[in-house]
Amino acid sequence: MGGVQELIATLARAARNPLSYARDWKQRTQGKVVGVLPMNFPQELVHAAGALPVTIQEGAAPITLGRGFLFEYYCGYTRSLIDQAATGQFDDLDAVFLVDHCVALLGAADAMRFAMPDKPIVLAQFSASMDEPWNRPDISRNIGYMRQRLSELCQVEITDARLSNSVALYNENRRLLRQLYDLRRSGELTLSSVQMQLLVQTSMIMDVEEHTRIITELIPLLGSQERRSGVRVHLSGHFCHAPPPDLLEMIESCGGIVVDDDLYTGFRYISTDVPATGDPADALMAWYFARNANVPCATRAQKSVDWETFLAAAVEKNRAGAVIMLMPKFCEPHMLYYPELRKELDRRGIPHLLIETEHEGLPLESLRTRVEALIERVQHGAPASPVVA
Ligand code: SF4
Repeated sequence: MGGVQELIATLARAARNPLSYARDWKQRTQGKVVGVLPMNFPQELVHAAGALPVTIQEGAAPITLGRGFLFEYYCGYTRSLIDQAATGQFDDLDAVFLVDHCVALLGAADAMRFAMPDKPIVLAQFSASMDEPWNRPDISRNIGYMRQRLSELCQVEITDARLSNSVALYNENRRLLRQLYDLRRSGELTLSSVQMQLLVQTSMIMDVEEHTRIITELIPLLGSQERRSGVRVHLSGHFCHAPPPDLLEMIESCGGIVVDDDLYTGFRYISTDVPATGDPADALMAWYFARNANVPCATRAQKSVDWETFLAAAVEKNRAGAVIMLMPKFCEPHMLYYPELRKELDRRGIPHLLIETEHEGLPLESLRTRVEALIERVQHGAPASPVVA
């Protein structure tokens, strides 16, 4: 059994270089590796085909060859995707699968096809309009299509039994991560936001059984970590990829204690299990709808739920004193939704701050001033909220 540092180091290695992790897995198992794009693709389908699903992360390198494929006003994630494709970093992937969710991602998929003409890039359209009567049958058809394409790619029949087994493994993994979220919200466990992000990010990258083994070992060891105090903060937003760790560290160094989030590389990703009974393909379809009801997304339209109501309820539940919204620059769905979030937080007197992130780097010192101002505002009497984590 490893200690906390050793286990975290194993996760950090995979997070630092997901494609190298995938290469090692491929050599070890002779299996196929499938890159999947955020935010709605069910990894269970790939796993049930015997392949490793790896959610493609934003690369750390400056964008070079990719500049010729997408405009500068595409979000950093999509520009990084195409740059990684153009510079040969996806050579070890056997295919890329995605379920579209925004125009920028569709553009990136087309550009990836152009940059990697021999690589299968399989797109299924999951309609964003969740309330239409034709949506559920349409998504069922799309899940069937992806199941078929993955069967062909991996030369294996994805039986219901295989799919149910994959669903159970992923549900268990998500359950453990949600357990950590609950402990963090309640204050029983202090996990920095970088540590929490690492746990979720690696669940997107690593073999699910290996990841579950590691976090099962890790959970009892985490309780012994030193507790910290500060202003309780909820982090919100940041679709598709992880916010920079130095930004998260800066927020906590200013006196913010992140107690909860609805980040994609965070609670949004692990919020919802796939139903474990019934037809497993129908269950994947049900998961798509349930997840948006649990943690609404600005890329989906559903009359019965909205993000701002979810966010206000989350803050009430987790007793956060402030919300910091993290938005990748040029993320159109988030930009369009932001006024609604802002209005609702203002209406409820919840202090908040918007920080835009960029692939090209962040002015951390000027951002620090803004975060410090937010924290001081809460400490010096902004609307009643507990300040000790
Ligand atoms: S949702 Fe936002 S971050 Fe994700 S691909 Fe679209 S524009 Fe980029």
